[in-house]
Amino acid sequence: MKETVLLDKKFREMISGEVISKRVDELAEMINRDFAGKEVVFLGILNGAFLFAADLFKRIDLKARISFVKLASYEGTRSSGSVKELIGWNEDIKNTQVIVIEDIVDTGHTLEQIVGELKVRNVASIKVATLLFKPKAYTKKIPIDYVGFEIPNDFVVGYGLDYDGYGRNLPSVYTLVK
Ligand code: 5GP
Repeated sequence: MKETVLLDKKFREMISGEVISKRVDELAEMINRDFAGKEVVFLGILNGAFLFAADLFKRIDLKARISFVKLASYEGTRSSGSVKELIGWNEDIKNTQVIVIEDIVDTGHTLEQIVGELKVRNVASIKVATLLFKPKAYTKKIPIDYVGFEIPNDFVVGYGLDYDGYGRNLPSVYTLVK
């Protein structure tokens, strides 16, 4: 069992890099099929989604663009519940098909804010792809179209996700050892 220590906490491997890679293949296949013949704009949510977005985007076989926005709602190991300002819009996304790429959907506050911002920008359609989803924590109604893995309501790191800035470089997803 692979374990790692970040700052004051111990984490145990939960989803290996190999398993993640196979699942990203499957998600990309679904998106390629669902959007065949269409143009899409991917919108990666920084910082956490940078690795997932890159790995997914490499496998996309469509006329596609990618852009990144940033908005943080997390401090330490507990969601603060509040959402901050959204920065980094630089694509003209009016009348485009947008696929939001999240690292993880927990309560859904972040996603709700982003989808709200997209609606006022008059996009043609909004789909959501997330590597990880915590169904027990989710409090919103927005459908999550492409889910990598459903996970329990525990704190995870790795593959882009951090604990106070550390752990993003881990190729696997690790869960907190309590
Ligand atoms: P939500 O707004 O859905 O409650 O939280 C979404 C954001 O909180 C994610 O984009 C991510 O940055 C952060 N987050 C939620 N759960 C976790 C977790 O288990 N680990 C880490 N590292 N971040 C998380």
